[in-house]
Amino acid sequence: MQHPNILLLVIDTLRADYLGCYGCPDQLSENIDQIAHSSILFESAYSASNFTAPAFASLFTSLYPAQHGVYDFKIKALPPSPLLELLKSHGYYRKAVVDFGFFKSYLGESFDDMESLTDLTVNWSTEGPLVETQRAIEWLEQHHTEPFFLFLHLSPPHTPYRFPKGYYENMMRSDLFAENAAEFRSHETLGPLFPEPVDDRIPTEQIDRYNQCSRELGRIAVDGNHASFVKYLYSVEVKVVDDLVGAVVNTLRTLGVLDNTIVSLSSDHGEELWDHGSFSHGASAMYNEVIRTPWILSVPGQDETAGVVDENVSHVNILPTIIDLAGIEMPDEYLGRSVRGHVEASKGLSGADEKPLPPVYCETARLISVVDGDYKLITPNQRTSFRSRKERIRYRLGRIKQRFTGSERRALELYDLRADPGEKRNLAKERRAVAECLLSLIRDYHAGRGPAIEAARDLTKEEEDRIKKELEGLGYH
Ligand SMILES: [Zn+2]
Repeated sequence: MQHPNILLLVIDTLRADYLGCYGCPDQLSENIDQIAHSSILFESAYSASNFTAPAFASLFTSLYPAQHGVYDFKIKALPPSPLLELLKSHGYYRKAVVDFGFFKSYLGESFDDMESLTDLTVNWSTEGPLVETQRAIEWLEQHHTEPFFLFLHLSPPHTPYRFPKGYYENMMRSDLFAENAAEFRSHETLGPLFPEPVDDRIPTEQIDRYNQCSRELGRIAVDGNHASFVKYLYSVEVKVVDDLVGAVVNTLRTLGVLDNTIVSLSSDHGEELWDHGSFSHGASAMYNEVIRTPWILSVPGQDETAGVVDENVSHVNILPTIIDLAGIEMPDEYLGRSVRGHVEASKGLSGADEKPLPPVYCETARLISVVDGDYKLITPNQRTSFRSRKERIRYRLGRIKQRFTGSERRALELYDLRADPGEKRNLAKERRAVAECLLSLIRDYHAGRGPAIEAARDLTKEEEDRIKKELEGLGYH
């Protein structure tokens, strides 16, 4: 069987609600909306973490953070992703074009070839993402006749906000820009978010200032004007990345391979733009503006009917679903789970095998959340409170139970996402039984009995030992 090509587009920091196909009225995403028009749109796709390193580790391993062990950027290299090894064994050439070097160190082994923008000579201020996209396009032009898996990581709309020349000139003509830009740039904390374009390849001073300010951003109070201006900059960045996506997809169309390519578009996480009084992603919070992301999946060979999947899905489902739709069987011991049945049901295909989906988790070292049906619980993460490595292993093996302390119970946040999508009303005290129920799902997750490793339940002792070793090899200890 000839398997389709795969284009995995991951846009850093892109919120779902800034895209027209997810209801944004601002017309920032003409190209992405056009892809969505004949694709499957996942209404409730959740990242497995709220920032880049663990989120990508989950995307490429189909494991949650507690299983792959990546919680920060101080990480050792991940061993080759079994999912990408599977693609290789089915004849795919695995190419990646990324915008920073850390991908090479921790994901490089999963690809046949990875190019990083940081290896190229570019003007940091105005060319970065353009050059990166151009590299991906040139690669496609040269290699589209071989079966490919192309991973393209695009950095807009991640801060700092930098714009290619044409956009910058357009912005300068807008009243909002004229009235705010100079004052914004002179702001001690916010200014480095929007540096002046300069000709340096690597403007070290600007980057240092930005790094300094990014540590303080979550803590400072901003007035409405500043917040509006940041949202404006963010929205222009969405337009930039939408045009980049359009250029790549048009290349596939021009080369005549779009009809034989699965296109998956998602982000690694979103961005809080003072929705809950703070800015940025990462340590800040686990509200939906940070952890709910777009996921749009275009599948060739099926009819052009668009479909919408309403159920909660996780980024750990993305690769298994793509692999399944590409007609490749996943070995039973692989932990990731395909949601193909839900994709087919959303298109109204008869006979779709639509098994109920498990709860969806999101985890960092400090916080963990679970979404089950309409409810979402956020709580401090217990994994940080083990006294020793031995205790954590005993807990992982189910030999001891971790108890939630009084203060942690008080820190519970429970939201009804259907009635309160903005997550403004904490129901933890009012609906105690629901909170307890979701808390038990988090205990299951920590005890390794969570749905993601359900497949391991019926394994023989030898197989179980092997998987445990693999998990430990992935950094779980
Ligand atoms: Zn990111």
